[in-house]
Amino acid sequence: MDDNRRLAELLFPHIEKQAKQYLTEVYPPRSLPEGAMVTRFAPSPTGFLHIGGVYTALVCERLAHQSGGVCFLRIEDTDKKREQQDGVSGIIRGLDAFGIRFDEGVRADGTEQGAYGPYVQSRRAGIYQSFCKELVEKGLAYPCFCTEEELAEIRAEQESQKVLPGYHGEFARCRSLTYEQIEQNIREGKPYVVRLRSPGKPGGRVKLRDAIRGEIEMDENIVDIVLLKRDGIPTYHFAHVVDDTLMGTTHVVRGEEWVPSAPIHLQLFYVLGLKAPRFAHVSPVMKEEDGSRRKLSKRRDPEASVEYFVREGYPAEAVVEYLLTLLNSNFEDWRRQNKTEDCRLFPFSLKKMSQSGALFDLAKLDSVSAAVISRMEAGQVAQQACQWAQSFDRELYDVLSADMEYARGIFAIDRGGAKPRKDIAKWSDVRAYVSYFYDALRTKQGEQAETVAPCDRAAVLRAYLEVMDVSDSKETWFEKIRGVAAQTGFCPDVKAYKADPSGYKGHVGDVSTVLRTALTGRKNTPDLYAIMGLLGQERCKMRINEALEELEHGK
Ligand code: GLU
Repeated sequence: MDDNRRLAELLFPHIEKQAKQYLTEVYPPRSLPEGAMVTRFAPSPTGFLHIGGVYTALVCERLAHQSGGVCFLRIEDTDKKREQQDGVSGIIRGLDAFGIRFDEGVRADGTEQGAYGPYVQSRRAGIYQSFCKELVEKGLAYPCFCTEEELAEIRAEQESQKVLPGYHGEFARCRSLTYEQIEQNIREGKPYVVRLRSPGKPGGRVKLRDAIRGEIEMDENIVDIVLLKRDGIPTYHFAHVVDDTLMGTTHVVRGEEWVPSAPIHLQLFYVLGLKAPRFAHVSPVMKEEDGSRRKLSKRRDPEASVEYFVREGYPAEAVVEYLLTLLNSNFEDWRRQNKTEDCRLFPFSLKKMSQSGALFDLAKLDSVSAAVISRMEAGQVAQQACQWAQSFDRELYDVLSADMEYARGIFAIDRGGAKPRKDIAKWSDVRAYVSYFYDALRTKQGEQAETVAPCDRAAVLRAYLEVMDVSDSKETWFEKIRGVAAQTGFCPDVKAYKADPSGYKGHVGDVSTVLRTALTGRKNTPDLYAIMGLLGQERCKMRINEALEELEHGK
């Protein structure tokens, strides 16, 4: 047995299965149709789901599902410092709320589905060690016993010499330890990490072909990076290479902060004799503030967290639709041509993604979301608003859920048609939108028809009370309003009034405003006829009387 083999046995006596067995027997290549992409979303279990994470996860999900492939969820928990309790289920629930579902991987309850698991890195220690053992056998990895102090010394020396920091070349002290020295150290119980013996040469260059950014040329890696930490758990770099190989990932979609490490990853694929997947490095989601752009920050921007969108009540599909507008600038054209299609039918393309970072704009989100809600059926609006209110606005929930048919009726007003109203951008807008339909939510101090004198308002209301019947047809209803106009000194015809306003107090529109404000407290509402139909005769009468009372006897 040569020294490398002896060393491999010394370091990994418990590892029996060989790397190639994992490659061929345990995780045979996937059989998928030509062109099918296998992608993964690989969060650390920090519990915090950044909207940028949803953005990246959506790219993964779209690529896989629009190509007939597989999208899986892998939990990268090799850095225990970042781990939070319930961190995994929080992330899964967050993604699920946006309709991002995985074909394989970890589920919210901690169980797993799929044949390429385990999908939690801490459950895969033996697999990484097997691949590491193979590298040691080939002389491509070695144990390093340097202490923190020694590493600090090396760093200081590199700083003073102004050379590339890291464990490389002449600074890689443990590179040349003999088998006997290693054995002695191990016998003495000295802790160690396992490092790559980097084949990189100073001055060497490597090319990364990125699916979003095109070709990027960078310095080759020359650092003997850590493969396994002291506890035998791999670093991100090593775990990524092993996992994405065994799990059959065809496209690694991840944040652009990983671009500088890509030379390490390419080198690891190379030394392991493995084919690297395609990479797509996604730019971060940006925010514009005081004329300059910065990354959307978890600390400073509430909208960085997905909780924000859930709390404000943006429908999941609206957020997804908005994210698609950020992902591909041609989405909006597609939407104009395909007004009612499911947004997931849009042919998403990596090549059309921005390299500079998409700008997250809440006003734009509101307008996209209002359009999405305007296309929903009234029943769906009532049901989703009610569901949101159950968690975030109990009072609203109580009134909506008490009579869902009535609620549906409210949202049915002016819905459909070529130009539907877009008053609701999120479920937290619903309270204000529906308040006058419910006595419990209504605010007494509403808007007034100020252009009409109080005594004329009272006259209009009194006259209208005499004839009001909410069961009238729309034509009769309007005729009656015109009649009231004529009777109280207003012109029943807007055009005629505009041609000659003399002798009138106003026109029929002003009369409608008097009625509208008395009944709803607003100058601008959807169709008043439909509103009155819903409120019913008795409630309309009561409100008009209330308004009269106020006009006649003051507040
Ligand atoms: N766990 C890594 C992160 O949270 C994922 C990077 C990747 O997708 O490979 O940044």
